[in-house]
Amino acid sequence: MEPFIRNDQYNFIKAQAKNIVNAYASVNDKAILHAVKSVAQEKAVGLFDDLAHMQAEVISPISQIENRVTSDAYLAQLKPYVIPFHPISDRTIATLFPKVKKLKGPSLEKVNLQEISYLGWIDKGSSKKYMIVEYQDKLVGLQGTFSNLNQKGVCALCNRHEEIGMFVMEVKRSGLDNYVKRGNYICQDSKKCNENITTLDRLHDFVELLTS
Ligand SMILES: [Zn+2]
Repeated sequence: MEPFIRNDQYNFIKAQAKNIVNAYASVNDKAILHAVKSVAQEKAVGLFDDLAHMQAEVISPISQIENRVTSDAYLAQLKPYVIPFHPISDRTIATLFPKVKKLKGPSLEKVNLQEISYLGWIDKGSSKKYMIVEYQDKLVGLQGTFSNLNQKGVCALCNRHEEIGMFVMEVKRSGLDNYVKRGNYICQDSKKCNENITTLDRLHDFVELLTS
């Protein structure tokens, strides 16, 4: 069976599994536990438009989780079905950021493509942040200045309370010669952010804001 779960969907399911484990740790009422598991299963299955029988067999056993051990085993059997991010090479990076000379990319061998919804890294020398996002079936490169806020706030991409900074990009307005600055607060740590993302909606809104 081909991989069919995106990173954000995997994270969403993982959060549902955690809800079940937490419920078992704090509630004794069987009816309540049954309800928590039913809701989790419904939400996990509901992520997908049209699950084939075999795919449903991978997702549905979330309702059998009772503790950390069964949760870990359930999540482990999902992993082979997580779709890896588009392959990235140094050449891809050079193509997406043609105007940046000697751009130092991230250590690609350290990036687990199954665990990202976008690739983001900070170039320490220039304190710029670079991001590669798949949007409308194409890879999009975003580059902007990044100023650490050195405090926690809500990230515009993952919607979680994390250490954030302001990402600002100069956007050329279509048909016009002038540039406008646009940006938002996003996680400093892109790895963490990618673990938090449970929907692609905000990431796509962000790309739209910065490219249109
Ligand atoms: Zn984030």
